[in-house]
Amino acid sequence: MQFVSTRGSSTVSLDEALVNGIAPDGGLYVPVELPAFSTGDFAAARTIPEVARVLLRPFFTGSSLLPDLEQVLAETFSFPIPATDLPGSNRHASLLELYHGPTAAFKDVGAGFLAACLTRLEGDEAAPLTILVATSGDTGGAVAAAFNERPGMRVVVLFPDGRVSERQAHQLTCWSDNVLSLSVTGAFDDCQALVKAAMADAALAGRYRFSSANSINIGRLLPQSTYYADASLRHFRMTGNKPGFVVPTGNLGNALACIMAREMGLPIGPIVLATNANRTIHEYFETLEWIPRASVQTLASAMDVGDPSNMERLRNIVGEADVLRDCLGVLSVEDDAIRASIRQDFEDFGFATCPHTATATHTWRQLEPELRGAHDWILVATAHPAKFETIVEPLIGETVPLPEELAEILSRPSRAVSIDPSLDAVAAAMDEHFH
Ligand SMILES: *Cc1c(COP(=O)(O)O)cnc(C)c1O
Repeated sequence: MQFVSTRGSSTVSLDEALVNGIAPDGGLYVPVELPAFSTGDFAAARTIPEVARVLLRPFFTGSSLLPDLEQVLAETFSFPIPATDLPGSNRHASLLELYHGPTAAFKDVGAGFLAACLTRLEGDEAAPLTILVATSGDTGGAVAAAFNERPGMRVVVLFPDGRVSERQAHQLTCWSDNVLSLSVTGAFDDCQALVKAAMADAALAGRYRFSSANSINIGRLLPQSTYYADASLRHFRMTGNKPGFVVPTGNLGNALACIMAREMGLPIGPIVLATNANRTIHEYFETLEWIPRASVQTLASAMDVGDPSNMERLRNIVGEADVLRDCLGVLSVEDDAIRASIRQDFEDFGFATCPHTATATHTWRQLEPELRGAHDWILVATAHPAKFETIVEPLIGETVPLPEELAEILSRPSRAVSIDPSLDAVAAAMDEHFH
């Protein structure tokens, strides 16, 4: 399979798309065409790695990674992704639990796949590849966990001091020597600017081989289609119905993976995007004009995106707003509704949801009765509520039990180097740690 930039026409292999991350013209890589499947193609695929093998193999034709595909998928899908039935709805509804990975959020899937691929393509113990990542919370932990102790690979995580939750901070700072965690006395934007400056700095580039692992890498997106394929196939085999999906959405990566699975022929019904108070996508569907803006802070902080970069891919793969809104729904959910939904979920289901997941359960309750009653629904749970216990616990009046993986991580010793938001400080910390 070849990949092409959303802004250009020259094509690259999967290997190049993974290593480059972003295309040289500033566009995002998309497959030149999506493979087409029927449900029968998956008849023998009963586990997630088996579904992934059928679904992702066409993307690996011509890639040097093809002989390792089996192993890459085993490393990526090393934890369960179950769909749990929700009680008390007239049509079947279930919760797709994407939070059983090492850092208890769905980003573990994309980060794990990217780490498995990049280590094989670029891992070099004599001249390690250094992944730079700026994070406001979830991404950095998933990337650090995925690259931890991988030979020939290093990670430098930059996070804003005091602006991530205590548990998130721990997930950013509890790794082996190949991961350097920098606590920056500044904002997330400072961290992002420092990553850009470091990658562009000639002196640093002479001492380090840099790459990034941000959410626009196609390697984060491809494996995410797998869990939509698997969940829809299981539901379809059981009931004969194509389930609809409600997907909590920020930068549109996870939702795009769902849309791609449907485009490839998987048995998926309506797809509804649940956003927080960041309304850029919502307004695009209403006005047909794309007006990115600064993000606003919400309780569902991992979805605080005012300029979702994957929209460029979505328009390229599916079409412009008038086409898009015929095949997608979208609802923007304010913080008050998120709080109410967390309480309602606890009452109705007997367990808590995280603030991101609560945008999906709220959206599902708000669907037009006709639409809601015409389909079975799978609501996507993007993170474990114990990651956001300071928001969730006061709302439900109970402690959220820690899942085993998270408890294990929180029991490890943590260490971070505190630095000023300056490139000199980043360089000094890296030289000190890695040499
Ligand atoms: C990143 C994230 C999201 C948003 O996903 P996108 O792919 O950016 O739309 C939602 N929930 C959680 C918990 C996340 O970490």
